[in-house]
Amino acid sequence: MPSPSPELSERFDGRSVLLGEELHASTELRGNIHFEAFASLKTRQGCHIIWHKPADFDHFLLNLDAPVSPANPVQGQAIAMLREAFAGGASDIHMTCLATHGNIALRRMGMLESWRDMGGSALMTLMRAIYQSMTEAGSPRFDPLTRQEGRIVNRKFLPPTVHSARVHTEPLQTANGQGLLMTIRLLYDTVKAQGSLKDRLTSLGYAQKHIQSLIKLSHSPGLTLVAGPTGSGKTTLLRHVFEALALEMPDRSFLSIEDPPEYPMQRIAQVLVDTSLDNRGAAYSAAIAGALRADPDYLMIGEIRHPEASSAALDAALTGHPVWSSIHAASALGIFQRLLSLLCVAKFADPLTNLQDPAVLSGLVYQRLLPKLCPHCSLKLAQALQDSTYRSDTSFLDMLKRLKAQGVELTSVCVRGNGCEQCKGTGRIGLLVACEVVACDAQLLGYLANRDQEQSLSYARSLGLETTAQQALDFIGQGHLDPRDAENCLGYFPER
Ligand SMILES: [Zn+2]
Repeated sequence: MPSPSPELSERFDGRSVLLGEELHASTELRGNIHFEAFASLKTRQGCHIIWHKPADFDHFLLNLDAPVSPANPVQGQAIAMLREAFAGGASDIHMTCLATHGNIALRRMGMLESWRDMGGSALMTLMRAIYQSMTEAGSPRFDPLTRQEGRIVNRKFLPPTVHSARVHTEPLQTANGQGLLMTIRLLYDTVKAQGSLKDRLTSLGYAQKHIQSLIKLSHSPGLTLVAGPTGSGKTTLLRHVFEALALEMPDRSFLSIEDPPEYPMQRIAQVLVDTSLDNRGAAYSAAIAGALRADPDYLMIGEIRHPEASSAALDAALTGHPVWSSIHAASALGIFQRLLSLLCVAKFADPLTNLQDPAVLSGLVYQRLLPKLCPHCSLKLAQALQDSTYRSDTSFLDMLKRLKAQGVELTSVCVRGNGCEQCKGTGRIGLLVACEVVACDAQLLGYLANRDQEQSLSYARSLGLETTAQQALDFIGQGHLDPRDAENCLGYFPER
């Protein structure tokens, strides 16, 4: 972990700390012209500024200085691993143990990359220590043959600004016997985006046209659903939409239902889902029904995963509440069929009629995060092709053919370089947001209900929909996205 900059602490009376790419500051420094000048320099160098209320900043400093006194050496190793992963900018840690072989991979900027190898039994010992001595879990006993869930909430185990970590294990069957995958998601409590919804979405990297559509949707009644794979920023979007609306409308009541709540949210009542019920769908649906009795003006439902939750969410939308939630689907338009099939399983009365009303189903959003090339060390394609390893790489040349077929101007394409100090040697810096936003109208919902894919897509395009693949091609054409990263995330571009 990078050590806090002491020089900085003295300059600003100890009310600011530079940690890697994060500049933490107490709000007492707002308006201090020396600090603002320093902060603006750091922002240009790629730093994020994280403001803390004075008391929170004190707490943050305490956590930073707290000596780690692990109960055993393996726990110490686990704490060190969490801190290193945090310092490297990871959002998730994947530990895979396959017989005698163990591997730890990190997800950074949406991409999973191998980090280090270790012996299988040493890794299993590490996973056992994490589960048994650091997490709060349903079952206290680590069992590599069963799927297990837990959370690390004790801040002395966690890096600064990570308020908790979600731990999940998945038993694996391999040719050589049993294996185990443990994933740890780091949940950050830093508010990197603040202010109005427009300010927040701008600093999260959304394009202006998407921001306008999302703001419009945030004021519509009915259900708006956000889809995208794990790690595509769905929860972050929901949270910022709700926090911004809640701050904008202090006379309205906002409720959120999550299982479990992942982030503390300002001014929003977070309803707990009863964890004692084995049927998660029923527990979710009971929480939604209970929340509606509490008379909220706006409702957020973390995720619609179960049929019961889909019908409770639709009930809430039918009673005129703006409801935002996330769902698993592979495109904005794909959300319609996914929701419809969940409602059919839930035996919802006449779902197709209800879903054709734009006051009930108002918005469809799908998003992907794509790694942005480091502008300091990326290579122009022509430069890269001077290297024989690129020229003789047939899969690279095939990929260029696909780009050409898609009409990308190859002279402006860039690829990942060798890495530099700015990008910590990764060749990538930050994330690009590719986002499909559709405000539904009756005609579109009619095409979707008729399962007329071609008509739906061409009509949605006339309403302004651009697919994530189209947006990725634009990013590639602007030299911001390595085409190999794009295809890794989204699949091959067609060779039409
Ligand atoms: Zn670089």
